[in-house]
Amino acid sequence: MAAPADVASAARSGEPGVSHSAMSGQEPPLIACHECDAIYRREPIARGAKATCKRCGALLYRGLPDSLDRSLALYLASLVLLIIANTFPFLALKVGGIVEQDHVIGGGLALVDFGMAELGLVVFLTSIAFPFITIAGTLYLLIASRLDVVAPGMRLTYRVVNALGSWSLIGVFLLGTLIAIVKLKDLATVVPGPGLFALFALVVVYAAARTGFDPEVVWRPLRLRRLTEADLPSAGQLLHCHSCGLLNRGTQHPHPQCARCHAPLHPRLANSVQRTWALMAAAVVMLIPANLLPVMTFKKLGQGEPSTILGGVVHLVEDGAWGLGLIVFFASVAVPVAKLISLGMLLRSFRSGATWRPKDRTALYRATEMIGAWSMIDVFLVALLAGLVSLGLVASIEPGLGVTFFGAAVILTMFAAHSFDPRLIWDHADLAGQSGDPVPTAVDPSR
Ligand SMILES: [Zn+2]
Ligand SMILES: [Zn+2]
Repeated sequence: MAAPADVASAARSGEPGVSHSAMSGQEPPLIACHECDAIYRREPIARGAKATCKRCGALLYRGLPDSLDRSLALYLASLVLLIIANTFPFLALKVGGIVEQDHVIGGGLALVDFGMAELGLVVFLTSIAFPFITIAGTLYLLIASRLDVVAPGMRLTYRVVNALGSWSLIGVFLLGTLIAIVKLKDLATVVPGPGLFALFALVVVYAAARTGFDPEVVWRPLRLRRLTEADLPSAGQLLHCHSCGLLNRGTQHPHPQCARCHAPLHPRLANSVQRTWALMAAAVVMLIPANLLPVMTFKKLGQGEPSTILGGVVHLVEDGAWGLGLIVFFASVAVPVAKLISLGMLLRSFRSGATWRPKDRTALYRATEMIGAWSMIDVFLVALLAGLVSLGLVASIEPGLGVTFFGAAVILTMFAAHSFDPRLIWDHADLAGQSGDPVPTAVDPSR
């Protein structure tokens, strides 16, 4: 792990001349940590290495020299796999002479049939539409960069792709599918189709595509001159773009825009604290019916009781599927509650002007944001089961109203985590730094 040289103190006080390479002509551009706003020189690092923030530990960038062709290949493969996963049969159920086939889209459609169009739309968007837009959009930007042309609409495409990335939940969908297969194995023979194998491959290839993607390569055709240390004395209060990561000069404009992707710039996310509290309160309200109302009714030979989220966990454990029962418990019960508690704690610590352990609190925020989407497992599970199991008198699965409330709660907690600005944690920590607490050192002497 290589940490780039830190010029945070120079950026704050406006002192020029920190860098020994300042006069070399090939000055590295400046970047800001998106979680704590510390400023660094973006120096080249070894292939496969990671540059992390010395102050908060966030990943700044990876060593990905010449990643363009590899990214192109991986995103193209992801697109092909996504199309195969969605056009070929995905799962089939066999009971006696009855065979039921289903496609990936079947789960969302089944929810619509049961009068839950909103939830069906959420399932369709997160498992098919958003992944497609993200992958195809990134591919478009990569091809333009390879041809060295400024693609029409590239700024909007980048902002859309960047915003939808965290809502593309194919990995969560796959895990939901595996749990559905285990749940159905006593009822019928489950036959995986080509769509399922493509989905497996897609999850692996897409993960590799995302880690190997350097967003900087898509901006190359713009030939934009980036801020360096030499610009600091005249740059004013620097503004970090949340969308593309460009460090922008300070401006007097009331609604400043990023010079590269044209996203609106804010020193801090607007009304972050109030908005996060409001979204959390709404999520708590949704979680109550989500846990009290049944999420589905499983009928076998005309017999069956509606079951709640916890009931479903108990059912998995009784069936001997301990591991999956634990996964569903963590994803559906523990994660939403832990998320609300940790966000509440972060907000309270900000309100009280807390200065303690900012690095750990940032790490807590990072974990909160990352795990949230996995709670969607239960929503996908119910959708898949409802889509697959309609074997007339033999068996049927009907989604319950609880799953709609649960889906709403999960989405609200995800919005809440996105609306919290982790840099707030460091605003108080910085003030404390002036009275003797640790602040980042000026230049890493090892470089
Ligand atoms: Zn940081
Ligand atoms: Zn930008």
